[in-house]
Amino acid sequence: MTFIESVSLFLGLLFSANLLYFSGQKWGATATVAGTLVALAAATLWPLLLAALVAAALLALLHWRQPQLAQGQGRENPLRELVHHFMSLSMVLVGLQYVAYHTLLLNGYGGYLIRPDVVDGFLPIAGGIEIKAILTLGLWDGAHPAAAVMLFTVLLSGVLCKRAFCGWACPLGLGGTYLYRLRKKVIRGDALPPAWLDWPLRMLKYLLLLGLGYIMVSMPSASLPHYLEGNYHQIADAKMGMFFASPSVIAAIVIALILALAAWQQQAFCRYLCPYGAGLGLLSFLSPLKIRRNDNHCLNSKGMNCDKCSRACPARIEVHQQINIRSDECQACMRCVSACPKSAALGLSTRWGWRLSATGIAALLLILLFGLPLLAYLLGFWHSDVTDAVRLQLLPYLSQIGH
Ligand code: SF4
Ligand code: SF4
Repeated sequence: MTFIESVSLFLGLLFSANLLYFSGQKWGATATVAGTLVALAAATLWPLLLAALVAAALLALLHWRQPQLAQGQGRENPLRELVHHFMSLSMVLVGLQYVAYHTLLLNGYGGYLIRPDVVDGFLPIAGGIEIKAILTLGLWDGAHPAAAVMLFTVLLSGVLCKRAFCGWACPLGLGGTYLYRLRKKVIRGDALPPAWLDWPLRMLKYLLLLGLGYIMVSMPSASLPHYLEGNYHQIADAKMGMFFASPSVIAAIVIALILALAAWQQQAFCRYLCPYGAGLGLLSFLSPLKIRRNDNHCLNSKGMNCDKCSRACPARIEVHQQINIRSDECQACMRCVSACPKSAALGLSTRWGWRLSATGIAALLLILLFGLPLLAYLLGFWHSDVTDAVRLQLLPYLSQIGH
């Protein structure tokens, strides 16, 4: 595990424990810290210990500079933005290390940097195929185990806390938001598609998901070992990197269209095209957590015309007209809760009345997104076994390597 990955991981876990502590969940905080310490003791690696100390120092710095935010107090939005920026910054740094690793390797300086395995999280097809190999053949892939771990982790987050991954963690979603804000500065106003067009556009992401699912399902189990040992899978991350670093004309047009789409409408990529968002949207129906409006406390029941929650919702859900928000577009972002003037009127809760604050959802998501990869790392199912020598052999033929 690289130093950036380790610092992010420990910072995420310590911050979760800290949030649980300050929200009164002392047992949850103790369990998270204890689990982290056990993991450190089990790994017995000094770089991990150093990363944990750096993470603790960064958390202390946050307490010093922004005590209210560090304790998860105040409204929901600043906490979500902190978590979302932290997750995205971590991915950007990891991406830079990935590029630096390959640059050094190709210039004869291999061994100075290690490849951050978490980048395999951007290989959902490989992850799906690996999970299929585990389930059907008991075959655990060694080339990109992190792809299976990250896919499983993100999908599990959908079952537990809806599309909170999209609203709180996804770097692409945050990048799209910045692009949208930039466009709004240059060209004001919004040109939203009418409802009759919006619905079929939203279905596009499910078609993409279906296509990806078909690739995984249609591959016969008997051919999985051959695929996982093949050159394409060994170097799948570099193939994906090449798609963005040196795109074909068609790929460049597709990327440009996606960027234009993200700039045109808030969360347009998440809403219309992201297959991860589609998968999480489907799984979110299983989540016991929903945004629920208590009509007795809502200002509308007192004869006032309030729609602040709906106007705050980036997914354009008519929150003020529903009791339970079941929409597959809801990202549990809590913007509606933050906008509501009546604290008892709106919240994220289960059917039986257990309410989860923004602090709770941040802690739950961070524990999931960092706890499971840490467990996988300790169990030896994280680090890629594709050596630098094999990479050096395959990289010059990258464009010729196919399935
Ligand atoms: S309904 Fe609320 S939590 Fe869901 S996406 Fe809209 S603002 Fe976010
Ligand atoms: S913002 Fe609050 S009070 Fe206003 S409609 Fe929504 S739930 Fe009701």
